Amino acid sequence: MANHREHLIAGAAAGVGICLLAAVAAGRKISIPELIGAAVSGMTFSKLPDILEPAIHPNHRSTFHSLGFIGAAAPPAWKWSEEKMREHRSLAEMSRTRAAAATSQQERNHWQMMALVHDLAAGFFVGIVPGYVSHLLADSLIPKGLPIL
Ligand SMILES: [Zn+2]
Repeated sequence: MANHREHLIAGAAAGVGICLLAAVAAGRKISIPELIGAAVSGMTFSKLPDILEPAIHPNHRSTFHSLGFIGAAAPPAWKWSEEKMREHRSLAEMSRTRAAAATSQQERNHWQMMALVHDLAAGFFVGIVPGYVSHLLADSLIPKGLPIL
């Protein structure tokens, strides 16, 4: 059974891995702030199943650990997080354009900071679903497996 630390590592790896795959599939540059955002949300959301259903006894895995739940929730959740990622990526792009056109150092700093925030946010949205799924994958390795519903 995966412990707290192993879930966090798996979650970060899943978030970063999917973020890298998405960048490669879209043929765009890999952004370090996006990867950091994806690692943070992957770790955060890798803990969510056990927050919803705390591991207080061996049969704590129920609906939120089930294959049915993840099968039903993951596709719309991924679609939503992809839309949010695109929104933040375009806001980051707009911020970089404004930074390049800034007329003062203060204005340039402001837009560069906004670009960084939106890059982090774009990555954060990418890591949500992989982080959650990584928890269930790790839990599925135990002999009991995961419930269907
Ligand atoms: Zn669990």
